[in-house]
Amino acid sequence: MAVIQIDKDICTGCQECSKVCPVYAIEGNPHEPQTIVTERCVMCGQCVQKCKSYISLLDHGVACYAQKRRERNLPDTVTEPLFAAYNVSHLDEVIKALQDPAKFTMVQAAPAVRVGIAEDFGLPLGTLAAGKMAAALRRIGFNKVYDTNFTADLTIMEEGTELVKRVTENGVLPMFTSCCPGWVKFIENTHPELTKHLSSCKSPQQMAGAVFKTYGAKLNGVDPAAVFTVSVMPCTCKAFESDREEMQDSGYKDVDVVITTRELAYLIKKMGIDFSSLPEESFDQPLGEYTGAGTIFGVTGGVMEAAIRTGYTLITGKELSDVDILPVRSTEGFRTADIIAGDLTLKVGVLTNLKNIDPIIEQLQAGTLNLHFVEVMTCPEGCVSGGGQPKLLMDTDRPAAYENRRQATFDHDKALPLRKSHVNPAITKIYKEFLEKPNGKLSHKLLHTKYKKG
Ligand code: SF4
Ligand code: SF4
Repeated sequence: MAVIQIDKDICTGCQECSKVCPVYAIEGNPHEPQTIVTERCVMCGQCVQKCKSYISLLDHGVACYAQKRRERNLPDTVTEPLFAAYNVSHLDEVIKALQDPAKFTMVQAAPAVRVGIAEDFGLPLGTLAAGKMAAALRRIGFNKVYDTNFTADLTIMEEGTELVKRVTENGVLPMFTSCCPGWVKFIENTHPELTKHLSSCKSPQQMAGAVFKTYGAKLNGVDPAAVFTVSVMPCTCKAFESDREEMQDSGYKDVDVVITTRELAYLIKKMGIDFSSLPEESFDQPLGEYTGAGTIFGVTGGVMEAAIRTGYTLITGKELSDVDILPVRSTEGFRTADIIAGDLTLKVGVLTNLKNIDPIIEQLQAGTLNLHFVEVMTCPEGCVSGGGQPKLLMDTDRPAAYENRRQATFDHDKALPLRKSHVNPAITKIYKEFLEKPNGKLSHKLLHTKYKKG
């Protein structure tokens, strides 16, 4: 079943969704139900965010509402309006695993979830709720509350090492980031000959799944076959990514189920947890330990900034004194910067919103994209604006929500005691005890991947 669907019974054909679709995947006549062309869709969920046509308990009655709720796999405690454009939920699988005593559940939550989730409980747009989220996940009953931010730090170690290797050994340049599954799917769909430009690194979500079912199982003294891994993501495409057939390098499906930020809110409500009054708690260690570099993955330019903080040290052997890399921080569709690292001028680019990609692809094909490293995110301002984030019913709330979520992310980064991935002690520990070295044999097996060449 396609991840993103349009319910023909509810769609009015207003075509608002097609205006935000970055890949022109929505077709249909005005005032008639629209269709998604699955071959083109990158599952970003921007149409889900935009759609305003809905059914509700009050307007359409219990029977009709319950039927639609069932079609979406949502728990029967959900009473919110159900919109025409939606993502299919997998919450039922999470609930089943939590109730199975034979399963050892490990959960991860992406950087952007912690600046979105509180909105579904009536807290102000962009409230930072990392500690409350960890507390909620623990009360839901997950055996281990780990964090995607840890593997964001791990991604920087692997991707930074790969970049330095490509730069110093005449590898394929520019190298593009590979943590956004919508972008990866887009390039595989439309320009498979360019996949050699993608970093071979898996996304932080997939690295986490592979690490949880190997090193994580060992740390907890459990059989990897019993480990059930759940991701909470701001992104609707992550479910597609976890289902890719190559994503089972641990010997099992690395990430068993993905739910969105919205679905985590449904689950918290179903469990009767009062989110606002939860205490601030920490993530479990060591796979929940993270730096500021890991948390800024949630905003456009964040992966690049995190990579520069560590890449500088990999290239020069020295530490950057000022880690705020302002030239890559704006929300402009495409921006570039020159970063001086010893004798090397590292030329970097950041693209946000796949709607801006065409000129970049043209330059890449023409051989005129004179850059070493480019970050690409499908959604308008990176993962904080992802299709799985709390739904903004008023379009007028959108700019403030994005700005507040972004600012909360940078505030969190600034407040953390460590802000560079390579100084995370849990990263040092995993290489010492398990992976040995970045881009080493085991890292390549568990943390890197291959792409479809068309
Ligand atoms: S999920 Fe994204 S790519 Fe797919 S139809 Fe919706 S907006 Fe377009
Ligand atoms: S899916 Fe929603 S936004 Fe798109 S045409 Fe239908 S009603 Fe309008």
